[in-house]
Amino acid sequence: MINLDQFEVWFVTGSQHLYGDTILENVARHSEEIAGFFDRQDRIPVRIKYKTVVKTPDEILNICREANNARECIGLVLWMHTFSPAKMWINGLQVLNKPFVHLHTQYNTEIPWSEIDMDFMNENQSAHGDREFGFISTRLRKRRKVIVGHWKEQETVERLAVWTRAAGGWFAFRNTKVARIGDNMREVAVTEGDKVEAQIQWGLSVNGYGVGDVAGMVNEVSDSDVNKLVTEYADQYEMTAEVREGHSLKDAARIEIGLRRFLTDGGFQAFTDTFENLHGLKQLPGIAAQRLMADGFGFGAEGDWKTSALLHMVKTMDQGLPGGSSFMEDYTIDFRNGNSRVLGAHMLEICPSIANGKPKCEVHPLGIGGKEDPARLVFDVDAGPAINVSVIDMGNRFRLLVNEVDAVSPENQLPNLPVARVLWDAHPNMQVAAQSWILAGGAHHTVFSKAITTEYMEDFADMAGMELVIIDKDTKTRAFKDMLRWNEVYYHLFQNRL
Ligand code: MN
Repeated sequence: MINLDQFEVWFVTGSQHLYGDTILENVARHSEEIAGFFDRQDRIPVRIKYKTVVKTPDEILNICREANNARECIGLVLWMHTFSPAKMWINGLQVLNKPFVHLHTQYNTEIPWSEIDMDFMNENQSAHGDREFGFISTRLRKRRKVIVGHWKEQETVERLAVWTRAAGGWFAFRNTKVARIGDNMREVAVTEGDKVEAQIQWGLSVNGYGVGDVAGMVNEVSDSDVNKLVTEYADQYEMTAEVREGHSLKDAARIEIGLRRFLTDGGFQAFTDTFENLHGLKQLPGIAAQRLMADGFGFGAEGDWKTSALLHMVKTMDQGLPGGSSFMEDYTIDFRNGNSRVLGAHMLEICPSIANGKPKCEVHPLGIGGKEDPARLVFDVDAGPAINVSVIDMGNRFRLLVNEVDAVSPENQLPNLPVARVLWDAHPNMQVAAQSWILAGGAHHTVFSKAITTEYMEDFADMAGMELVIIDKDTKTRAFKDMLRWNEVYYHLFQNRL
C-alpha cells in the first residue's frame, strides 16, 4: 500500500498585478506561512507544499499543467487572498485533472477596528475574492470541496485533513490493479459490472486469472515457510493445540504465502475469489484473505471487484487512523420492535483491523463449496460509530451508497458462530435504512469502516465524479425516493461531465 506521506498537495494562491509589489509580497509570505502551518499538522498525513502566487492566465495555466504532470501531487489547495479576476482561471481549471479544494480563509483573524484602512481592506479581501473564484468553478461545473474557516482553527485543519486522505484514496483507486481470481459467483448480479467503464471513469483495471495460477504458486511454497507462518499465527492469535498442530492450519498458511506471492509478483493491490471456483486449492482462503486485508489489500468475495477496489481505497485513506476497515456483508437481522439491528459477517473474510482484541484462530467446516475445512480468525467488534459503503453499477453510472451506523456490543455470547461478526444499529433506524438501501439498489457486500466518516466518501465522490447517496439520521423514505428519481434525470443530462 502506498504511504500517504509520499504525496504532496500544492498550495496555490490567486491574485493579480493591480495591487503593487508590497501587497503581492505580503500575499506570498502569508501563503507560505499558512501552507507551512498545515504541513506541520500531525492530522494532515500528506505534505502541504507552498508553490506560488498566480497573477496572470498564463501563470495559472502553467501551474495547472505542472500539477497534472507531477506524480506526487494529488491535489491543490486554491485560495484567493485578494481578488483574482476569474476569467483568468478558465483555461487552467479546464485542463486541471487533479482534484482541488477551495479554501475560504483570511490571513488576519479579527478586524483591527481602530486601525483598519483601505490598505488593510485591499490586502484582506478573500471575502469577495473567493466568491469570484467560486463563481467560475461552479460555472465550469467543477465538483470540489469548499472549506470555510480561519486557517489556524482545528476545525479547518480537520476538514483539510479529511480531504487530503480522500485525495490519497482517489490516487490509489485510479492506480489499483484488481486480480479477479476465478471470476464471479454464478448468477449473482450485483457483483458484476462494466469493467471497461470503471477503467474509463476511475483508471483502475480489473483482469481475470485462473485459480490454477494461484494454486501453482501455493504448491511451490516450502514446508519451512509454512512452519514459520504457523508459528506467527500462534504468536498473534489464540488457538487450541489441535488447531496449532492440525493440517488445516498448515494448508491455510500455504495458501496465504502463495496468494500473497501471486498478488505481489503481479503488482496487484486488490483481489477477489469465489468459493465456486477453487480448483487446486484445498480450502477457501479464509485467514489468508483476512490477513491480506489487514495489510491493505482490497478484497471482495464471490468475484466482487468493485467492493475489493473500494476497500483498498478506504484502507489507503485510513492509514494511521484508529478503527479499521473491512469487507462486510449484511448477514442476518435481529428483529426487535423499534430497535432492530443487523448482524454483519461473511463466510470467513472479515478484516482483523476491526477486531476488539486478540482474534481466535479456528478451523470449522464451511458448509458450502465442497472443500476442506478452512482456518479463519474469529472476533467481535467494539461498539462505536461506523459506515457501510457500497458501490453499484446502475448501467449508465456508478452509485456510491453510504449508511451511517453504530456498532453495538452484542448482549449475548455467540458460542456456535465460527466467524468474525459485528452487530450494528443503522441510522435513522433499521427499517428506514434497509428500505432506503434496497430502493437505492445497494449491494449485500459493503466496506465497513470505523476509521472514516461519510465526509471522506463525500470528498472522494466529488473527485471521482460519482453519484453519492447517503442514508443517515435525517433520511426520510419519501424524500429519499424522490431524490433517487431526480438523480436519474440529473445523471442522464450530465453524463460524463459531473
Ligand atoms: Mn458474500
